[in-house]
Amino acid sequence: MKLFDVYPLYDIEPVKALGSTLWDSNGQEYLDLYGGHAVISVGHSHPYYVRKVGKQLKNLGFYSNSVRIPLQEELADKLGKVSGLKDYTLFLTNSGAESNENALKLASFHNGRTKVIAFTKAFHGRTSGAVAVTDNPSIKAPINFADHVVFLPFNDVEAVKKAVDHDTCAVIVEGIQGVGGIQVATDEFLKAIRTACNRTGAVFIHDSVQCGYGRSGRFFSFQHSKVKPDIISMAKGMGNGFPVGGILISPAFKAKYGMLGTTFGGNHLACAAATAVLDIIKKEKLIENAAVTGQYLLDELVGFKGIKELRGRGLMIGIELEAPVKEIRDALLFKDHIFTGVAGSHTIRLLPSLALRKEEADRFLEVFSQYVK
Ligand code: PMP
Repeated sequence: MKLFDVYPLYDIEPVKALGSTLWDSNGQEYLDLYGGHAVISVGHSHPYYVRKVGKQLKNLGFYSNSVRIPLQEELADKLGKVSGLKDYTLFLTNSGAESNENALKLASFHNGRTKVIAFTKAFHGRTSGAVAVTDNPSIKAPINFADHVVFLPFNDVEAVKKAVDHDTCAVIVEGIQGVGGIQVATDEFLKAIRTACNRTGAVFIHDSVQCGYGRSGRFFSFQHSKVKPDIISMAKGMGNGFPVGGILISPAFKAKYGMLGTTFGGNHLACAAATAVLDIIKKEKLIENAAVTGQYLLDELVGFKGIKELRGRGLMIGIELEAPVKEIRDALLFKDHIFTGVAGSHTIRLLPSLALRKEEADRFLEVFSQYVK
C-alpha cells in the first residue's frame, strides 16, 4: 500500500534527536530551529520526559474517560499554577484543530448563537468548524464553506467594534498568527475584542495552539496584553511531540455530562507527556529562556541588512526578507544543516525548542549573516 500523497517532503530522514539537535539516517547532524512546527517545547528526547512517558507506558498506556484518571487532575492543577488561570477548567483533546472545534462548539452551546468572527490570514486547523474560521479557501472543501463566518482584517480595532453584535457567538483569534507570518496581535486589538465580547455576550476564543505554552516569553501570549479570554485553545508544545491538546474554560461556562467528549483525549500517556513538559518548563525556567533567547535573536537580527521586517515575541520569530526566502531556507537546510520554517514566500519562521541555548542561537546568526548581511 502507498501513502496518500498530500505532503511535499524534504529528502531527509531524521532518526535521532536530543535537545535542539537532530541526526538523519546518514549520521548528518542538524540544528533544529523549527521543532517540527513549534511542537518541540522542552527539547527532543528530554531524559526526564522520556523517563516519565516510558514509566507510564509500563504501568498503563490507556483507558477511556469512563474511569478516574488522577493524572488529568494533576495536569490541570499544574496548568492552573503555571498559567495563573487557576479558576479555569480543562478539557483535554488530541490536536489543535480539535481544541478549536470544541472551543467553538462550547461557545455556541453557551450563548445559542452561530455567527463567528475570525481574521484575515488566520489558521485554526482542518476539521470542519476550525477550517471554516481559517482564512485559506484552498484547504476548504465545498462542505467546509460556512456562511456564519465573517473575516475581518487582523489588528483592525474599528472593524471589531463595528462587527461584533448581539448575534455574534464568538470571536476567534491567534495571539500571534503563525501560519499567517508571525503577526503579533496588538494590545489595543485584543482589548477591543475583550470589550466587544463583554458588551454583546460573544465568547472570546484565544487560539494559543502555536503561540502558547511559553513560546512568547509568557505562558500565554495574551498575558503580555493583560486581557483574559473566555476559552483558550492549546496543543503543539503541550506534549513535546506526544499528540495532546486542550481548552481552558473560564468559570462562566457550566459543564454538562455528554456536552463534549473524545475517546483518546486525556489518556494516561498524553497526561504523562504533558505533565512532564510542565515540570521541565518550571524546573529549567524555559519561559524565561524563551523570553531572553528570543529577545537576543531579535536584537541581533535588527542589525542585518536585507531584512524587511522582524516580527515576533520570545521564540516565535518571523524574518521577512525583501526577496523570496525559498533558496535561503533550502541552503540553510541542505548546506548549513539548520532546520527553519517559512510563512508565505518572503518570511522565515523560527520556532525552536524553548530550551534553545545562546550558542545555538549564535550559530544560526553566524550562518544566516552570510545570506542577508
Ligand atoms: N491553530 C493554530 C494557530 C495552528 O498553528 C495550528 C497548526 N498549525 C492549528 C490550530 C491546528 O493544529 P493541529 O494541526 O494540531 O490540528
